[in-house]
Amino acid sequence: MRIVRTVDELRAWSRANRKECKTIGLVPTMGALHAGHASLIRAARERCDAVAVSIFVNPTQFGPNEDFAKYPRTFDADCALAASLGAEVVFAPAVEELYPEGAETFVDVEGLSGRLDGASRPGHFRGVATVVSKLFIAAEADLAFFGQKDAAQVAVLRRMTKDLRLATEIVVCPIVREVDGLALSSRNIYLTAPQRHQALALSRAIGVVESLVGHGQRNVPTLIEAVEAVFGAEPDVRVDYIVCVDWATLEPVEAATQGTLFAVAAWVGETRLIDNTIIG
Ligand code: AMP
Repeated sequence: MRIVRTVDELRAWSRANRKECKTIGLVPTMGALHAGHASLIRAARERCDAVAVSIFVNPTQFGPNEDFAKYPRTFDADCALAASLGAEVVFAPAVEELYPEGAETFVDVEGLSGRLDGASRPGHFRGVATVVSKLFIAAEADLAFFGQKDAAQVAVLRRMTKDLRLATEIVVCPIVREVDGLALSSRNIYLTAPQRHQALALSRAIGVVESLVGHGQRNVPTLIEAVEAVFGAEPDVRVDYIVCVDWATLEPVEAATQGTLFAVAAWVGETRLIDNTIIG
């Protein structure tokens, strides 16, 4: 497996593969890889002939008071994992490679970018859309793999891909969880043992929604009330949002129907966690 640092090298790798009629998969990550990321790399290997994993802690998607500086960086272990899963390339550019000096071009998916996580993290989705568009342009991949874990991000990126007529197709992979239900996240390492326990309120809330929906409950206020009760029993967890929205527009819906996104975000101490389910 090769470690590639520049856009030109990544593009040359991609074009060489395309010349051999190989399909190209891209797995964008910020590193600190865990089993959730691994599932994306595996899915990419199953669907594509050649896979690149990008590892880039993107400064523009972090707010001024967020954890950019302390975000976990485990580059050597990440490369070993990517290699073991059959990635051909890890693309790990320096910040100046993706944001050349004087850069002032950004991609803003207006409207969507201000909803859900975008409401509590102003500028976050502008940073995400900008870096992902740069990665798509550099990698010229056929497919790019993202986790349903970041469901609002998926909505923003689907819109962006459509609006910019990008050639890369987005593939969404299921949420990978710990055995007790906690959705895997690079940020889980911030949690103390008691916080790790409190954090289970999120997956418990999602489980309650899935169970109610499974029993035919489609009324949104009823679902939200049930989730509020779960969080009410965990007073050290501070809810950011509990929403039931159209997955494409991120606008609230009246009834939870097939394909609707039910999502929660909450603070456990200093750590903001998210979880969701797509109504089946
Ligand atoms: P990140 O490194 O946090 O930017 O995440 C990179 C990709 O991995 C994103 O598409 C995430 O949605 C995805 N991802 C993160 N956690 C999980 C998880 N628990 N299950 C599946 N995919 C995940």
